[in-house]
Amino acid sequence: MGAANLLQHLRGAGFTISPADGGGIRVTPAGALTDAQRQSIRDHRAALLALLTGAPTTTTDPAPDPLAAVAWTDANIERFLTRRARLLRWGWPEPEAEALSDRLVRRDREPDARVSCADCKHYRPGRCGNHRRAGLSTPDVGRDLGGMLQRCPGFTLAPGSP
Ligand code: SF4
Repeated sequence: MGAANLLQHLRGAGFTISPADGGGIRVTPAGALTDAQRQSIRDHRAALLALLTGAPTTTTDPAPDPLAAVAWTDANIERFLTRRARLLRWGWPEPEAEALSDRLVRRDREPDARVSCADCKHYRPGRCGNHRRAGLSTPDVGRDLGGMLQRCPGFTLAPGSP
């Protein structure tokens, strides 16, 4: 979830967000924030501040999409954070990890049966452990294919996947 979508989510959930003295962000009512929401705000502090103050930013948040107008639930945020953490552990660059995690949460909210290697128990960074069943000629799976939504006959949801 990019900063723009996070801001929409928080406002949609009834929070008031504004810049605070000293470069902080004031959220009201702060006591109603979940741990996941607090973590997302920390992760996107600079980009959120830029959005709130109108300052130039170098972030590449995608334009808000129509589905983002429907506030993310706590479960959506947990799924986003779980996938993001896993992809970062696998060495994915943060922008790519965030983009795929964001895309997968939006996929979760759509009637879309496609899957991603990132959720598959056969995936290890750069490799598919079930490539013949998947119809691949080699086990090599680069980040481009690993991050693509696809219909794969070899897919099995990884234990602990959101
Ligand atoms: S079985 Fe399919 S979804 Fe799973 S890792 Fe291999 S190519 Fe990806």
